[in-house]
Amino acid sequence: MSARVLVVDDIWPNIKMLEAHLRTQYYDVLTAGSGAEALEKAKAESPDIVLLDIMMPGMDGFETCQRLKADPALSHIPVVMVTALTDPQDKVRGLEVGADDFLSKPIDKVALMARVRSLVRLKMSLDEWRVRENAASQLGVVAEAANVMSEPVEGARILIIEDKEFEMKKIGQTLRGDSAIVITASGGTDALELAGVHAFDLIIVSLNLSGEDGLRLCSLLRSSERTRSVPLVMVGSEADMPRIAQGLEIGAHDYILRPLDMSELRARVRTQIRRKRFQDRLRSTYEISLSLALTDALTGLYNRRYLEVHLGKLLEKNRAAKKSLAVLMMDIDHFKKVNDTQGHDVGDEVLKVFAQRLQENLRSFDLVARMGGEEFVAILPDVTEARAHAVAERLRRAVAEEPVPCSVPEGTLPITTSIGGAFIDGEGAEEADTLEAIKRADANLYKAKQAGRNCSVFEDYGKLDPADFPATGREGLA
Ligand code: GH3
Ligand code: MG
Ligand code: MG
Repeated sequence: MSARVLVVDDIWPNIKMLEAHLRTQYYDVLTAGSGAEALEKAKAESPDIVLLDIMMPGMDGFETCQRLKADPALSHIPVVMVTALTDPQDKVRGLEVGADDFLSKPIDKVALMARVRSLVRLKMSLDEWRVRENAASQLGVVAEAANVMSEPVEGARILIIEDKEFEMKKIGQTLRGDSAIVITASGGTDALELAGVHAFDLIIVSLNLSGEDGLRLCSLLRSSERTRSVPLVMVGSEADMPRIAQGLEIGAHDYILRPLDMSELRARVRTQIRRKRFQDRLRSTYEISLSLALTDALTGLYNRRYLEVHLGKLLEKNRAAKKSLAVLMMDIDHFKKVNDTQGHDVGDEVLKVFAQRLQENLRSFDLVARMGGEEFVAILPDVTEARAHAVAERLRRAVAEEPVPCSVPEGTLPITTSIGGAFIDGEGAEEADTLEAIKRADANLYKAKQAGRNCSVFEDYGKLDPADFPATGREGLA
């Protein structure tokens, strides 16, 4: 993987110097000589990180950063401001307009590279979720365009690991002032225990704990299940820079140097919380939209889209293992009459109960999906042909033999279903394809309707004779 860095500076030699150094580290380098050009390039080339000068004629770095962060298509790209300005106020201003870090010229190359590597890594993990969100919205569920900078920061749960009482208080006060919920620990043992109980949005770790290696603690927090994806901010002094670089390498998200500037701390913490919440949101949108896109809202069964993908995979696996597979297609008989005489709502109730009956009478690893309307499909992996026949008859009876409870004056409605089956032999299944199997089952379903409904039809066998399938209850299901 080679990451793309966009270097923005109005002074050409500055660009050349950074470019040369980045290239020795195998980065692809893009360049821009002004804020306006930077925005253009960011849009056109989607870099993985932007190194941004502040003092430029026309649009300065602050404004450029603000614009980048306001654009939902660009706001996830990390920005490091690289500047000759050293006033703490400028630093805070940079962080407040959304910069992820602020480094002073002359640039410490080791610090810069550690930072670039860590930010690029974070962005890539965010990108994975963005891709999935994209895929999810292509499945038909529209997700609003999300923006890293617009996530709220209020009510964040923050764990501070610091054993110096005075510092701990100061940090705690600052963050509580920013409406965070602050919990404190004086060492690693406490911290891990607390992490087991609370879900934190951020962890601040001192690298100067007495009698404990803060860096080791960072590594522990990185590898622990509960804290793996919680942003980690290190607190250390100038002398700790080599360890801080190591900390970024093992996955800490950010750091701040002593003596602590509280405005800077607040700005850095906000950035991390926004990023974390943004990622959480992408993840949950993805999960929700995925389940919406793949399941049927009325019955909770999988839908046709899921079935087609799943059946394709299953057939592939079966072919490799030479296992057989049966497809049953079911359609409720004269369902239109239920709607016409009892109303659509009663029709919906019947569909729900029908779906339940199918599920109750199949094994947990059989798959049942609603194809649409009052048509359902069950896929039975690894069954013999005789077994598939028996299952079809069991399903047919499960529906016919017990009237369906629903909101009608009588309390129940008699319902029947017709079933068409297709069988794919494990040996001769070379060319069997997904839709073809469903089509064959569908053709047999049609024959079942022709044969008078409330019956099962399989190819080569025709209509099954119920007398051949004595009632066996549900044994042998599992
Ligand atoms: P056949 O025995 O030949 O299958 O007759 P049928 O009446 O069941 O078949 P047809 O396909 O003509 O009618 C199916 C009906 O199912 C028509 C449609 O209004 C109804 N339907 C489809 N989806 C839903 C739904 O989600 N809820 C309800 N209540 N009815 C639905
Ligand atoms: Mg029908
Ligand atoms: Mg129908």
